[in-house]
Amino acid sequence: MSRQSVFAYELTWPVYDRLVRDGDTPMLIPVGAFEQHGHHLPMHVDVLLPSEFSRRIAEQVGALVAQPFAYGYKSHPKSGGGNHLPGTTSLDGATLVNALKDVIKEFVRHGVRKLAIMNGHYENSWFIVEGVDVALRELRWDGIEDVKIVVLSYWDFVTDATIEKLYPDGFTGWDLEHGGVLETSLMLTLYPDLVHMDRMVDHPPASFPPYDVYPVDPDWIPVSGTLSSPRNASKEKGDILLEVCTRGIVNALTAEFALDPGTSVSAA
Ligand code: ZN
Ligand code: MN
Repeated sequence: MSRQSVFAYELTWPVYDRLVRDGDTPMLIPVGAFEQHGHHLPMHVDVLLPSEFSRRIAEQVGALVAQPFAYGYKSHPKSGGGNHLPGTTSLDGATLVNALKDVIKEFVRHGVRKLAIMNGHYENSWFIVEGVDVALRELRWDGIEDVKIVVLSYWDFVTDATIEKLYPDGFTGWDLEHGGVLETSLMLTLYPDLVHMDRMVDHPPASFPPYDVYPVDPDWIPVSGTLSSPRNASKEKGDILLEVCTRGIVNALTAEFALDPGTSVSAA
């Protein structure tokens, strides 16, 4: 039997139907953003990374991967540089919540009962939680109560030991990692042709007052659009991050969905 794609949208409907109808095959939904990432990275980093994590993880746990959400919630100055920056193209929170809710309910209609929302954009976090919560509430109203949804962001699987190894000069937090060492290293590992290290802007980590002001004051944000420097990024660090996060997520999904590790959809 020829090898089958893990991408749900590359399958024909009868093959897809056979895989999801009984509810056993998990569906991974990458949720990204269209957002500037400094002078050295393309604007779909937050889509590419969770999509590629999803592909690798799906192959290991026998899951399918849905079309990613290519747009996300608005960029915030303290975690993405701000929504005023050129290129960044965002959804209102209510739009993301409703779109995610709709997609979850459609997959459940097909038979899917195990879903994982694979976040790649910091600002999406609470809107994903809201979309999941409202979807589960509406499904309960329809008498469907056997749906389980895991919500995760890949960077939360980087262990403290890995942080110490990768950030010997100190770690400023995931919010400031916009276009910094984490994303740049992973891109160097997975999509080196899309990284322009010769154009990266080296600067100290952004620092902000402990409050926000609206409308946003552009002077708060480094002119590069990144919030920490990508200077110390490397393919070697990307390899480590890829391995640690993939393994952590595989373990989490295997436990939460009571999966048989090593089963792949191609064997179904
Ligand atoms: Zn990003
Ligand atoms: Mn982002």
